[in-house]
Amino acid sequence: MTARIIDGKAIAQAFRAEFAIRVGRLRERGIVPGLAVVIVGDDPASRVYVRNKALACESIGMLSEVHALPAEISQPRLVDFVRTLNGNAAIHGILVQLPLPKPIESRAVIEAIAPEKDVDGFHYRNIGALFAGEPALYPCTPWGIMKLLEHESIPIAGRHAVVVGRSAIVGKPMALMLLAADATVTICHSKTRDLPAVTREADILIAAVGKARMITGAMVRPGAVVVDVGVNRDADGRLAGDVDFDSVAPIASHITPVPGGVGPMTIAMLIGNTVKAAERAAGIAAAMETRIA
Ligand code: NDP
Repeated sequence: MTARIIDGKAIAQAFRAEFAIRVGRLRERGIVPGLAVVIVGDDPASRVYVRNKALACESIGMLSEVHALPAEISQPRLVDFVRTLNGNAAIHGILVQLPLPKPIESRAVIEAIAPEKDVDGFHYRNIGALFAGEPALYPCTPWGIMKLLEHESIPIAGRHAVVVGRSAIVGKPMALMLLAADATVTICHSKTRDLPAVTREADILIAAVGKARMITGAMVRPGAVVVDVGVNRDADGRLAGDVDFDSVAPIASHITPVPGGVGPMTIAMLIGNTVKAAERAAGIAAAMETRIA
């Protein structure tokens, strides 16, 4: 068997085209969905990432603002800045690029974001809604993965999903979403005993660890669906996922590549959340909600 490669770039493009239509409908009503990205300090990788998010918004007719603040900004001033954005009617989505420089507490800043503008889905209100199975703004990476699985018509109900990684931004919300879709879910982490024995039980294996090529073919059940969230540099400085593509692709039924798998969907879902937030702010969510967001 050779796995079908899930083309996240193409699928993300299809979602963006649909979101562009929804942006067009909002603009007809005089509403331009707006995303504000706040970046603190001058980490070059974060700046590239933020710029890509802004460009992606602009490419479909949305407003995007990047606010680059100095690393020395105090936590109270940063919180005030976020509150100002909360009160800005032209801004429907607010994203604070993480990590924040010390001694700023990320949680205090995230909680300052109005939940209805929290397009990263990290505010406790949105986390709680996800936990309770209620509508919310969902974290972009796991939500994008759910949409990839849906797009590929991969059945989830009743299947065993194994999530490797339990971070608050990927692993845990991923597990909750798979559970909500009726999978039987196992979460693994650094203390899991005999990880290969667990991953070999997976019908759907999600790798969100941050270790280059750690999931090898010997850890995958033949025919499994393998989703690689990892974005790593290997010892030679090359971009690598958490999955050893060369040994896993001959065994899996489906696999996401790195790059071009999960990454583009994360940005697409950020746009989707901002469009959704703008629709809700305008009170027209029900009329414009589509099957994909
Ligand atoms: P974190 O570092 O926050 O979490 C990593 C998780 O992996 C932890 O739960 C950790 O366990 C677990 N882990 C570490 N080592 C092992 C091991 N040997 N065996 C089993 N589990 C292990 O990472 P993130 O969740 O933020 O990100 C994971 C990866 O996904 C990174 O490469 C990141 O760059 C990438 N990423 C990609 C995105 C995209 O859009 N494509 C978006 C977000 C992240 P423990 O809790 O016990 O420490």
